[in-house]
Amino acid sequence: MTSNAYIGRFAPSPTGPLHAGSLVAAFGSWLDARAHAGQWLIRIEDVDAPRCPPGADHFMLGQLARCGLLPDATPLWQSQRSDLYADALADLQRTGWAFGCGCSRKEVAALSKGLVYPGTCRNGLHGRPLRAWRLRSDGPRVDWHDRRLGPQSQQLDTAVGDFVLQRADGLWAYQLAVVVDDAAQRVTDIVRGADLADNTPRQIRLQQLLGLPLPRYLHLPLVLASDGEKLSKQNGAQAVDLSDPTNALREAGRALGLCLQAATLADLQAEAISAWRALYGPPELV
Ligand code: GLU
Repeated sequence: MTSNAYIGRFAPSPTGPLHAGSLVAAFGSWLDARAHAGQWLIRIEDVDAPRCPPGADHFMLGQLARCGLLPDATPLWQSQRSDLYADALADLQRTGWAFGCGCSRKEVAALSKGLVYPGTCRNGLHGRPLRAWRLRSDGPRVDWHDRRLGPQSQQLDTAVGDFVLQRADGLWAYQLAVVVDDAAQRVTDIVRGADLADNTPRQIRLQQLLGLPLPRYLHLPLVLASDGEKLSKQNGAQAVDLSDPTNALREAGRALGLCLQAATLADLQAEAISAWRALYGPPELV
């Protein structure tokens, strides 16, 4: 692979404005793409429509633009791509990996006793109405390499169990949509927050079962709130302060381990790209 083939992406769920943590993920993925002279895409992950307030997507795109983080192609919206997810589900149904589940959330909680879904409906619904579609999680351990965290592995059936592909309300699960779109957009490098690292084995299993290429992964350090909790819109993280975008990127760079001093946005970005190269290097271009 040459560096020209690099395609990276930032894939925010527009559940609110960008906060300090999501700016770090955006900047990290942008830097990795720029450091490899690659393309950087934005995909709006609005599959969970009830959690996405109207306008949050465009607000976020405006925030990114203020920071000079501009995508190399028109962004995609997952809410417009249901047909692709339905095709992938049909494929997994055909090969017997996806199964219909008739359990309610309450039942799953009671059956799993706080552990993983115990495979209740794997062998049929036994007359109950279909609610959701799940993926069988049995199979070999998933071993993978993260460019920052090193070798990783997970036994899916004991760690996460049979996971949901399409919810009872018809909404597509993140795991399925992300895998379908990363492949459709020919993404070679996924750079995102470390909170998503334990989702990666589920995504790799789906890539394997759907016959899709496996991207490289780099999970970035997380920005924690002062109480040590992960910053997220769910726990009320504030929109990132963009009154001085250069300073906002300097702060995001600090979270990534980069010490940036330049005074203008363009100079700071250039400084960040070389600092990023020194820290994370070009990935082994094999
Ligand atoms: N949409 C996910 C989020 O905002 C990130 C998806 C990804 O980068 O794979 O948490």
